[in-house]
Amino acid sequence: MNLQVVDPHKFDDWNLLAANVAYICWAAGLLIILGYFIRLSTNGDNKDKYDFINKFEISVLWIATIIIIVGAGFFFNSNIPADIKTIIIFVRIFLTIMMGLITAVIIQNLLKFYYPFYIEKRLKVLRYKPRISPKTGKPMKLLSEEEEDVYLDEGMQAEENVFSVDYDVWKDEETGFIKIEKYSGHLHAIQCPECNYQTFKVVKEEVIRPATETSEGELLKHYQCGYCLYKAKKTVILKIPTKINEPIA
Ligand SMILES: [Zn+2]
Repeated sequence: MNLQVVDPHKFDDWNLLAANVAYICWAAGLLIILGYFIRLSTNGDNKDKYDFINKFEISVLWIATIIIIVGAGFFFNSNIPADIKTIIIFVRIFLTIMMGLITAVIIQNLLKFYYPFYIEKRLKVLRYKPRISPKTGKPMKLLSEEEEDVYLDEGMQAEENVFSVDYDVWKDEETGFIKIEKYSGHLHAIQCPECNYQTFKVVKEEVIRPATETSEGELLKHYQCGYCLYKAKKTVILKIPTKINEPIA
């Protein structure tokens, strides 16, 4: 006969605490995500939204994921029976940590390699959606690379020529109102030609030959894939800077 008496409420305090920690974690994770999207939707214009998504979306989702997984770990251990063997407790802790890590790695990979495709689509829409002129309330026109130079000062042109920076110039053709937006190639990944993930980024740039007033220059961009580590170089021609006060007819 087994005379050992088990207190049936031995783990009640723990179980209650674990369940509460789980709910708090889940609430916090969801609030972070909700807060992000509310903040995004109230963010001024398309360009602000573009920068906000580019800068924060993946990190915010990742932080929320970790908090929600920690909550799940507590939740799965909030029903410890009173007669559990000590060894089983250790097995449960071990399994919880392993499952948590595996889930985290899977979600991290989804965020890093698949999610950017979805972000990219939204960023493209935000970047090329016609800007509305504050003067006339009508859509403005996005100028071509050739047309835009007249509106970029020499500093901006130099920047476009030395870094992976793109300026978009929007023009209200009725009033001549101009809106200039800056996009950085360092912050923004393109599709990798090797593995096709949206993880190909400029990692280094070298000016081989600077553009002068009379001759075009050359810029070498070094790309590397964040997923398969594929590397590539691309030469870009540096245009002869356009003088602001002498617009091309
Ligand atoms: Zn790749």
